[in-house]
Amino acid sequence: MLKKILFATNNLNKIKEIQAITPEYIQLLSLKEANIFEDLPETGQTIEANSTQKATRAYELSNLTCIAEDTGLEVEGLNDEPGVLSGRYAGENSSSEENIEKLLKSLNQIKNRKARFKTVITFKTADIIIQFDGIIKGSISKERKGSNGFGYDSVFIPEGYEETFAEMDFEKKNEMSHRKKAFVKFLSYLMGA
Ligand code: IMP
Repeated sequence: MLKKILFATNNLNKIKEIQAITPEYIQLLSLKEANIFEDLPETGQTIEANSTQKATRAYELSNLTCIAEDTGLEVEGLNDEPGVLSGRYAGENSSSEENIEKLLKSLNQIKNRKARFKTVITFKTADIIIQFDGIIKGSISKERKGSNGFGYDSVFIPEGYEETFAEMDFEKKNEMSHRKKAFVKFLSYLMGA
């Protein structure tokens, strides 16, 4: 049976990545399609908390079964920063360019460039709230490379590869990404539910 699920984001890149791996029995609606135009809260101290906040607020506003996701880049040599602050690492309303600039500068004198992306998806219905995470390990390159993708993709090299996410085509990143891993866990939960 077709399931209608609100995907609580306005990030077109995230929508594109998730749409591409969504089976036909799920119809994903964006916030816009559900006529929700407010910025969802992201004031938590952790990626998990922000994901919960977004899903809970989207559910309150829509009364629709929802998923929300929050993602962070955790860099070992920076004590797992930027983490929950990934979107505003260089300050409130900072651009991805500015965030990357700060990241590369912060790592200038640091040898350990190991990093990971972590996505936490929250599924929310009237009586269920449950989370699924997806992690991909890798490292931060010395400079930006590639022009595909978004956010920190141009400086993230997944483990076992030589190119950044931004040098990969859409399908290649989307096959291995943190977001895909979390979404696949969610789908297998949904199929068993
Ligand atoms: P949020 O989950 O939208 O709050 O994302 C936090 C930060 O991580 C933003 O700067 C995003 O651009 C970045 N980000 C989220 N997902 C990805 C990704 O798949 N690749 C690269 N950067 C990402």
